[in-house]
Amino acid sequence: MQPPICARHGKPVRNTQLATFFLCDDCCEELSRLACRGEPPVFREFDLIGFCGLCNESRCVKLTQWYLCEDCQRVINSYRLGRVAAEYALQQWDTLVTPSVPHIYLKQVDIVQPQQYERRRKREPAKQLDFLAVERASYQPLFWLELKTGRNALSDMRTFQLDKSDCDDVLNVVKVTGLPALLCHVCVAQEFQPPTSRFIGAGIWWTDIFAMRDSFIEIRRRRFDSGKEAAHFDPTCFRELNVLAKMLSQGYHFALQWRLAREGIPQLYRETKR
Ligand SMILES: [Zn+2]
Ligand SMILES: [Zn+2]
Repeated sequence: MQPPICARHGKPVRNTQLATFFLCDDCCEELSRLACRGEPPVFREFDLIGFCGLCNESRCVKLTQWYLCEDCQRVINSYRLGRVAAEYALQQWDTLVTPSVPHIYLKQVDIVQPQQYERRRKREPAKQLDFLAVERASYQPLFWLELKTGRNALSDMRTFQLDKSDCDDVLNVVKVTGLPALLCHVCVAQEFQPPTSRFIGAGIWWTDIFAMRDSFIEIRRRRFDSGKEAAHFDPTCFRELNVLAKMLSQGYHFALQWRLAREGIPQLYRETKR
């Protein structure tokens, strides 16, 4: 028997299931239009007050279903997480970093936007990362900042893992723009209001590409996510945002740029024997 048509793929895909979300009217419309090729949900009933699966707000939501393959369901669930992490990062930057360096601001470059499935023949490396730190008066770009989101606080992590493809993206952006990059780990917690839940930013830490290179441990194949290979790093390379605030006020961003010019692009990982 043929599997159902995945609404985001627009064709039958193996592992396609009835995927369930709780969505407000606005977000249901947004997902239909942008992610599901204009397909309305196959089921949308039962009003209740709860957290919306896309905007994360407490609103009147409905139980909403589309047929989606496993990958597309995972991608759609990642939109809310991405938005929560970006918003939290900006808010923490404003609170902890801006007072020390009001002349530097964060510009969100890569905005999380639902998209339908597109088959790419070859994966193109990224040309930009999530945020660009910019000098307010001159609009001069200073460095990139990429976010990674997870459920763990830094203190609970034995290693910090980043997919090899994500490492390559970061380095490609450094290469094509000539700007250094920082990486932030955002920890999100979940608050439940059955049958819904919302995500809350619960911690943020940062590191830079040189500190990452120095903290590389090994390459391991992931057990999930189609066995992608990930680079593992010692989490002690991450620090608090108030440390970044102090360092930036002392010109750390220029030191990073000089280092990049002098040493070249650091290799974030090496192939290791397992
Ligand atoms: Zn919503
Ligand atoms: Zn799909």
